[in-house]
Amino acid sequence: KTKEKQGNGYQFYNDNMHSQIKNKFDIAESLIIGIQKDEFILHYQPKVDIMTNQIIGVEALVRWNHTKKGMIYPNEFIPIAEETGFIKTLDKHILKLACLQIRDWIDRGKEPINISVNVSPKLLHEESFIPHLEAVFESTKIDPKDISIEIIETAAMEDKEYVYNVLNILRSKGIKILLDDFGKGYSSLSYLKDLPIDKVKIDKVFVDEICFNNVNRTIMKAIIDMSTALNLKVLAEGVENVDQLNLLEELDCQSYQGYLYSKPVSIENLEKMIYEDEKKGAII
Ligand code: C2E
Ligand code: MG
Ligand code: MG
Ligand code: MG
Repeated sequence: KTKEKQGNGYQFYNDNMHSQIKNKFDIAESLIIGIQKDEFILHYQPKVDIMTNQIIGVEALVRWNHTKKGMIYPNEFIPIAEETGFIKTLDKHILKLACLQIRDWIDRGKEPINISVNVSPKLLHEESFIPHLEAVFESTKIDPKDISIEIIETAAMEDKEYVYNVLNILRSKGIKILLDDFGKGYSSLSYLKDLPIDKVKIDKVFVDEICFNNVNRTIMKAIIDMSTALNLKVLAEGVENVDQLNLLEELDCQSYQGYLYSKPVSIENLEKMIYEDEKKGAII
């Protein structure tokens, strides 16, 4: 009764404040059970090189395959997980799932493809983060180079010295650091020069209007040029049509993600895409 189905997702809250609070508690509790029951699964969205149209890696995006409620998307539980601190446990679990996936590919004789994992600012600030990662690399026996980490700007803005040190330790292991959702918040271009990162993911908000809005196009060009000058790679998020892609190519953007190439897909569908070459020549 407190849950209402809405479109593809689920609405956990109703208008009653009291039940909202109770519900938040319930959700936090069922998140823990969800991990125990292994209900969190990863979907994967390809990252594509604009020049070659080849898949250069994938992003892992968590879904909660709930026994009763069905598939639940991140917007429904990540904010609650962040608020309750459960996100640290969840992200550690997801990092392990990603490493196990790489291990599985190697065991099956497949060439592993780089998986990027979204890491919450909370986990980045947690002392156990690097030891956990090291333990997972040790137990799965995978090369850290096969994993990338996506962080958002706010993660690196507070307690700069601590976070920069963490990022540098990760990079020294060969893990690539991606700055997610760039431009969405209070980003400043000059800030890019100090960050120990490898790639900038330009937020979908700029891509959305790139064909119609000159200001957004100019900002996009500035981000791409600045990043390139600083030896950072760039990826455009949320590319949905060919016009956007053509324009991004003109602006010298190197790579993209978006529904145009593929939505995030299950592991089975990803493997069809990367190992059975189903998508080859699908676009352009
Ligand atoms: P994000 O990391 O910026 O991921 C991109 C989101 O945009 C994904 O939504 C993806 O499905 C969606 N997307 C990709 N291409 C397109 C497109 O062309 N059009 C549109 N309309 N959407 C597109 P999703 O999977 O619902 O994830 C939402 C957010 O939840 C992620 O944003 C990320 O911030 C967070 N998230 C997802 N998985 C994890 C995780 O394992 N850990 C943490 N801490 N956060 C996660
Ligand atoms: Mg991301
Ligand atoms: Mg993003
Ligand atoms: Mg985003």
